Amino acid sequence: MPGGMQEHQRTLWWQTSTPKPTLPTIAGDRSVDVAVIGAGFTGLTAALHIARSGSSVMVLEAEAIGSGASGFNAGFVVPNFAKADPDTVNRKLGAERGRALLDLVSQGGERVFSTARDNKIDCDAAQTGWLQPAHSDQMAGALKARVASWQALGRPLRYLDAAETASLTGVRGYRGALFDPTGGTIHPLSYAYGLARAALAAGALIKEDAPVMSVERMGDNWVLQTAGGRITARRVLLCTNAGKVGIARRLYRAIVPLSVYQIATAPLPKDVVARFSPQRHPVSDTRSNLFTYRLDRDDRLISGGMSLFPIGAHERMASGIVDRLAEELSLGFVPKVEHVWRGVAAMTTDFLPHLYEFGPGFIGGIGCNGRGVAMTAMLGEVMANAALGTPLSALPVPQAPARAIPFHTFAQAAPSFAIAQARWQDWRARR
Ligand SMILES: Cc1cc2nc3c(=O)[nH]c(=O)nc-3n(C[C@H](O)[C@H](O)[C@H](O)COP(=O)(O)OP(=O)(O)OC[C@H]3O[C@@H](n4cnc5c(N)ncnc54)[C@H](O)[C@@H]3O)c2cc1C
Repeated sequence: MPGGMQEHQRTLWWQTSTPKPTLPTIAGDRSVDVAVIGAGFTGLTAALHIARSGSSVMVLEAEAIGSGASGFNAGFVVPNFAKADPDTVNRKLGAERGRALLDLVSQGGERVFSTARDNKIDCDAAQTGWLQPAHSDQMAGALKARVASWQALGRPLRYLDAAETASLTGVRGYRGALFDPTGGTIHPLSYAYGLARAALAAGALIKEDAPVMSVERMGDNWVLQTAGGRITARRVLLCTNAGKVGIARRLYRAIVPLSVYQIATAPLPKDVVARFSPQRHPVSDTRSNLFTYRLDRDDRLISGGMSLFPIGAHERMASGIVDRLAEELSLGFVPKVEHVWRGVAAMTTDFLPHLYEFGPGFIGGIGCNGRGVAMTAMLGEVMANAALGTPLSALPVPQAPARAIPFHTFAQAAPSFAIAQARWQDWRARR
């Protein structure tokens, strides 16, 4: 990997995206109905809805469109929760609010693909369905129950037996799989650019290189301080995910950041791809040390993992992840790794999306937990509704207290312990 590269330049997405939309120059102070902080999927989706409702909206982005997780992720569109089944959600939130959140999350996959279609976003959108194979009998039982509880909510999920799972993946030994036909894959940066283009066409303003350092109450308004000027707004949406600059720390204190490495190989021969991915499904299995893979439009394999130690991690992760791909998929050769990059994902402590009220009309939102692509398509709309005046109590995303999680400094180290524990659990399961 060439030295001196900025992290975003390492991504497959940066090198293969559609052109970035041209942004008009915006200088000086401004006054708008809604200020949105952060130009990732959440902020751009919110801005699109707000602009289409007829209110004036300005997105302020610290760096560039897609320079957070939205430009670094793997592009899996997965409309569910990483760690919570419908029963867990109902237990935690109660039947009524649980159902509202489950209905919202259920629509995430469909919404990503319909947004891409309706706005003519060229982002390699492929609604192939998503496969979650079970690596053990215990997980096969858990997935069957998960499928049944989503089916009870009217969702079109299916449980596939071991033979069907084997015919759809290249991996030996899976006991069965959950199949969600509404999932699939996108090119995340092209999707973010397309959302921005649609928001601009609807009348939204977007300003890059505009980190918001502070947000202060002044009368009935909020005043946002950026390097290039002051923005006055009736309402403010904080969509900064795992960002740490300036006002983003308000949200950062409520999450656990997770460093995730992704790789993309050189394009693979068609006959090899047909052996392990005849229907081009993205796959994420149930192992604690998660095994994932998907293809891009040029038949590159994309996979990821987490590192215990940051030093030398790009090179180490590249060879570790590609060796695992070659072995699990019985490729018979180790493909060349062309891209390796690191991004930071945001986890909430209960793995559910949340809204945070920092003041009257100043709302933050987090939807990630590794399912952010589908989740943010819904969260962005929910946050737009909050900005347009719907009370938080009437929205389907639960509110969490706007304060730091206890022992946040230590919580940031928790993922390293979780990785070590995951590897230990998988090692024991193999014995
Ligand atoms: C490596 C990786 C792989 C992933 N893979 C998947 C996947 O395959 N499928 C899936 O569903 N999810 C995945 N995720 C999660 C998903 O990418 C995120 O949930 C989603 O992109 C979050 O979008 P967002 O708009 O909320 O945040 P972001 O995209 O992070 O956007 C936040 C923006 O706020 C800006 N910002 C920060 N501070 C300020 C400030 N003070 N002023 C102005 N702007 C500011 C940042 O520059 C950034 O552009 C992955 C995440 C990572 C890191």
